[in-house]
Amino acid sequence: MIYPTVLSKESNLVHIVKDQNTCVCGFTYNAFTTFTKKDLKKIKFKPEKVITCPNCKSIST
Ligand SMILES: [Zn+2]
Repeated sequence: MIYPTVLSKESNLVHIVKDQNTCVCGFTYNAFTTFTKKDLKKIKFKPEKVITCPNCKSIST
């Protein structure tokens, strides 16, 4: 499976993107209501094995 992921700079964890503001675990990677091209660049499509957030990982499997 390939997931849209985002890297959290604070915790250095790779999360699975749920929508334009949050990740599957509830982490907010985009605090703004607008979603720009710059935000889109943060999202990387990666296989499940690179996901390091334990919460995102447990929900996805
Ligand atoms: Zn997460």
